[in-house]
Amino acid sequence: MPITAYSKEAAREIDLEQWLALNHYSLKNDPLLERLPAELRAKAARDIECSGCRAHGAVLVAVGRERGVGRSVSQGHFRFGHTGGANPHDPLCDFYIDEKVPRDTDYLVNFASDKSALTRAVRDLVCRGIRAGRFGQADVRRMRLWFLDEKVAHAMPLDVMPELLNWCVDMDATRWDGQLPFQPEHGQLPGFDWTQAARSEWRRRHGALFEARPMRVHFRQDTVHRALKLIELQGRVIVLDPTSLREKYEAVVQLSEFAALYVYHLAGTKPPPHWRLNGLKSAGRALQALCALLLFMNDWDTGQASAVFAGLTALPSAADGTEGNVMGLNPFHDDEAWQILHEARQVAARRTDARPVAEQIDAVRSELHAAHLEWLARSTTH
Ligand SMILES: [Zn+2]
Repeated sequence: MPITAYSKEAAREIDLEQWLALNHYSLKNDPLLERLPAELRAKAARDIECSGCRAHGAVLVAVGRERGVGRSVSQGHFRFGHTGGANPHDPLCDFYIDEKVPRDTDYLVNFASDKSALTRAVRDLVCRGIRAGRFGQADVRRMRLWFLDEKVAHAMPLDVMPELLNWCVDMDATRWDGQLPFQPEHGQLPGFDWTQAARSEWRRRHGALFEARPMRVHFRQDTVHRALKLIELQGRVIVLDPTSLREKYEAVVQLSEFAALYVYHLAGTKPPPHWRLNGLKSAGRALQALCALLLFMNDWDTGQASAVFAGLTALPSAADGTEGNVMGLNPFHDDEAWQILHEARQVAARRTDARPVAEQIDAVRSELHAAHLEWLARSTTH
């Protein structure tokens, strides 16, 4: 369900609202697309193709309606394929998996919220850049093709089982229980926490599992969610090995975090306290798509790309412009999930005991306790 797609007639990447505007139909007057003429729906199926793989048969999906209230809650988008039919996307297409099941609701954007204002602000910047000739459709296409080539060249098998990811979550839960190494004498400390000591000891013995992992990768229920979904869907048996593009992805995150503050400013809002790029949902993804394009065009140099970004903000606003869009093209949109899968594979290769972590910690606990009793017996016999 891409937010943007390629219009053959317009010869550019556009979102739903832009496509309707180019076809002289106002989304504002009919936000639920209840009166959309059949000819226009038929034209959409002919004219629009997936920006990731050129799949056809686009369906226009209206802004969602909040149950009971009748207010619009989600952003309009394109959907490819037919009800109950085969998936029209190329298996290596970014949208292959997401067409098979409804997107998580967090993908949808509330038009009335700050996030929507942010999404519009990003689109405005894209249109300003295209209007001023700072980048164009050819650059967007070059980036897309470059990324497809990267995926083919650096494929990683999707051979991770959900059990392994859950094992990694249990493993990371022990991560911060750092204590001094256990001594049998510790057992006589008042209120000594045997479970804590066992977790700490387990973590010390398995230190190799925690080494050489990128700083941003943590196994938690919320961070493995998307990776679990990719496995569950098994839509494709290979994914991109994220280590091949790690530095480039870091650059995209860095530039996006820098740029987000100014997008907030352009949208006329202020960032909430403790905001995170992830928390921006669609707007965050849209911003990452723009930043990826700027970096792609500037040899992945964050300094140069940030200078171009600054230049975009100084251009006259192109509000409601139809020049095009790149929001559906963030090449790194699943990078976090790929990193989780990649690191889980490293853990699988390094671990020496695949029994459940809790079971192993129980065993360590018994072992520590036995060592303490042994010490006690020794010290009382002397
Ligand atoms: Zn596709």
